[in-house]
Amino acid sequence: MLKTRVSALLVGWIAVFGLVSQAFAQMPELRRADPNHVPVFSISHVNGGVYRASVDNHATLFMVTPDGIVLADPIGPGFAAWLKEEFDTRFGVPVRYVVYSHYHWDHASGGGVFADTAEFVGHANMLTHLALPPPTTTLADVVGQYEPVAALDVNGNGVVEESEVPIDIQRFYGSDMTQFPGFDANKDGVLSGAEVVRGPVSLVQAPNITFTDEIEITLGGKRVTLTWLGEMNHSKDSSMITFPDDDVLMVVDFISFGRLPNREMDYENGMFEEWMTAIRETEAMAKNFEFVSTGHGPVGTWEDVMAWREYLEKLQAQVAAGIAAGRTLEQMQRDITMDEYSDWFGFDWVDENVLGMYHFLTD
Ligand SMILES: [Zn+2]
Repeated sequence: MLKTRVSALLVGWIAVFGLVSQAFAQMPELRRADPNHVPVFSISHVNGGVYRASVDNHATLFMVTPDGIVLADPIGPGFAAWLKEEFDTRFGVPVRYVVYSHYHWDHASGGGVFADTAEFVGHANMLTHLALPPPTTTLADVVGQYEPVAALDVNGNGVVEESEVPIDIQRFYGSDMTQFPGFDANKDGVLSGAEVVRGPVSLVQAPNITFTDEIEITLGGKRVTLTWLGEMNHSKDSSMITFPDDDVLMVVDFISFGRLPNREMDYENGMFEEWMTAIRETEAMAKNFEFVSTGHGPVGTWEDVMAWREYLEKLQAQVAAGIAAGRTLEQMQRDITMDEYSDWFGFDWVDENVLGMYHFLTD
């Protein structure tokens, strides 16, 4: 009798510890950056009036016309300031439009330096994403990629002070600026739950021109179109951007080339099937363009979009088979290796990709 009770207790403790370890395994890591990193800026010609500009692993496009420049994502404050100088010296025309692929801090920040000459164009949902959640939102409400930021509140006073933030926290690309001022919407020097949930988007210049399905802009006789891709896990405001007169299509984050999907793949937002639909629609559209450029990875073609779709389909099939066979998340994270993608950037994220797919298929 006693022995049975001890066994039951042991089983109970193993169950509890098992849950705890699974909870730890599921919490994303705090994103960090080397404070001494020196960013690499570059500009290269793609086709016609379209150029690609990049800082380290983040890229965008811009189109030069006699009447000015249409710039896609400005990426970050330091990078945008550098771009403005390059535009002045290389082309001598101002930025007339900044067009956003989506609202995320690491692509949409820094456009304010062009506010004296430019209009800002984004999907209507961008404004919803940039709005603060209700002030009653607490740090305990933060789920997903910013959960480790909320966890920095070690003194438990309900806000994250700058002194609680490690020196090597993620920085804006091409800038010394940390994410802290990006989160701190009201500039009071501490981060509330609402500010952490919203994300580090305070340096995003909100669009003054919005659209719901599609918008076409003409500048200097050339067109730029933004087409909404629907709500999906990555964001609810993602648009493909085309430069049809120069045969270039741009897509950001929901598709990348030569690299794995980012970490846990934004599983907290669900909507995996909607993501796959957007990828398939883009793959079909991309066949009409000679050049496809992404926010991460080299300029490619529709076949690179196909490769990205196939990666996700293979991952989905393996995780689904593991779930059907009764295997645990930890077993799948150990055994699903996706070895044929070992030459892709971020190959060490396979276990986090498995985590994200597990959530997509079970939540
Ligand atoms: Zn993004």
